[in-house]
Amino acid sequence: MYNPKSAHAEEFIDHQEVLDSLEEAARESGNHQRVLEILEKAALCKGLTHREAAILMDCNEPGLEEKIYSLAASIKHRFYGNRIVLFAPLYLSNYCINGCTYCPYHAKNRTIPRRKLSQQEIEEEVRALIRIGHKRLAVEAGEDPRHNPLEYIIDSIHTIYGVREGGNSIRRVNVNIAATDVDSYRKLHEAGIGTYILFQETYNKENYQRLHPTGPKSNYEWHTEAMDRAQEGGCDDVGIGVLFGLSSYRYELVGLLMHAEHLEARWGVGPHTISVPRICPADDISVNDFDALPDAIFHKLVAVLRIAVPYTGMIVSTRESQRMREQLLNCGISQISGGSRTSVGGYTTEERHDETAQFDVSDTRPLDEVVRWLLEQDHIPSFCTACYREGRTGDRFMSLCKSGKITYCCTPNALMTLKEYLMDYASPATRAEGERMIAKSLTDIPEGRIREIAIERLKRIENGERQRQIHAGERPGGTGSLAGERIARHDHGPGPESH
Ligand code: SF4
Ligand code: SF4
Repeated sequence: MYNPKSAHAEEFIDHQEVLDSLEEAARESGNHQRVLEILEKAALCKGLTHREAAILMDCNEPGLEEKIYSLAASIKHRFYGNRIVLFAPLYLSNYCINGCTYCPYHAKNRTIPRRKLSQQEIEEEVRALIRIGHKRLAVEAGEDPRHNPLEYIIDSIHTIYGVREGGNSIRRVNVNIAATDVDSYRKLHEAGIGTYILFQETYNKENYQRLHPTGPKSNYEWHTEAMDRAQEGGCDDVGIGVLFGLSSYRYELVGLLMHAEHLEARWGVGPHTISVPRICPADDISVNDFDALPDAIFHKLVAVLRIAVPYTGMIVSTRESQRMREQLLNCGISQISGGSRTSVGGYTTEERHDETAQFDVSDTRPLDEVVRWLLEQDHIPSFCTACYREGRTGDRFMSLCKSGKITYCCTPNALMTLKEYLMDYASPATRAEGERMIAKSLTDIPEGRIREIAIERLKRIENGERQRQIHAGERPGGTGSLAGERIARHDHGPGPESH
């Protein structure tokens, strides 16, 4: 029976509740008045239930669809302004003992070269990433206790945080590794990870079991309950997602939101991020074997998610084309990867890239081009990690985010990290665009005191200082430090994203 507070996967992702929600959505989506009421509720920016979101998703009335897109855009603007956070994936190892039928790293694939980076190679990859301007990484590794034990992942995290290149470093390491036990999550937390990311792939248990025939990941319950164990182990920023194309998108939308409701009900904090990858071609994987999601539906899905979970950051990767990413940025996405390599060792050895890639990248532009493109589209590329450096994760971040107070420091902080990027890495054309954006955005900061602080710190960055963000305590009415909040857990400066 459906119970969002339950610790059991079959109760918080109750199959019958999903089916009932989809049936109600099919029935109610043509009810003009009901859809309007849901949109009115959504405009209060407190989110929607999975049942309400499913109704919006099914609604095909053109005038109401327009309202869905414009509401998504205005909610995005209210919580994230025009900031877009940038990160890069870092593939450590493609050894994997699982049998996921949609991933070329599956254990039975004998054609893909297997590779695992040494700590020395990780250092070189990180140097290459820092040299192009990245501050946040998402570490990826297959599940293989022999080749990629937890100790290897922890060593790699320490290696990454320890790299200094031209005075810069990686400030937040998010981790995307297989579901594990509470003790291991505790060790990851102690190693200073940012968000723990684990995609459900599909919430439909029957499909899940068919698509994951072998390996530890074939256990649906173990996988679906992983975020609860992560929370128990202290990883309070968790990132969920599905791989669209593995089951019906309507089922996945409801499943994602039920999972978010469960985390909120059980741990008092919903997911930090939701990722929305779609199935795409790779080594021995063809999209024709799956139920690929059309662009128009994908666009609407992102808009509905934005409305349903306003406080949750949304991520789209370089799987998507430049054109698709432009559409999605305007209706809900707050974080993108840029200049990505999806292969093991791909940032240092060009020819390895295609051989060991997990999926084909659609958007292959280098980071400088991505930054300039964002600026030209009137977005502020952000490398900000201030929240994490102030220990503001999990419910501490969410409560500040929900109060709206965080937005006082977000734009100035994003501008300061952009300024660092322009000073240290940008091409002349990107720098010109960036300076134009900084000048324009400063005039948009409504609070005079914050604007003055931002101008002063931007000047200091120009004079060579770094990491000069505004702290939440400096916001108007702030106390100098945030009451009840944990202060910097990590002196080495790794910072998480909070988007
Ligand atoms: S999706 Fe992850 S667990 Fe599955 S085969 Fe690929 S790397 Fe392994
Ligand atoms: S202050 Fe926090 S929420 Fe705002 S941009 Fe920086 S890291 Fe993100």
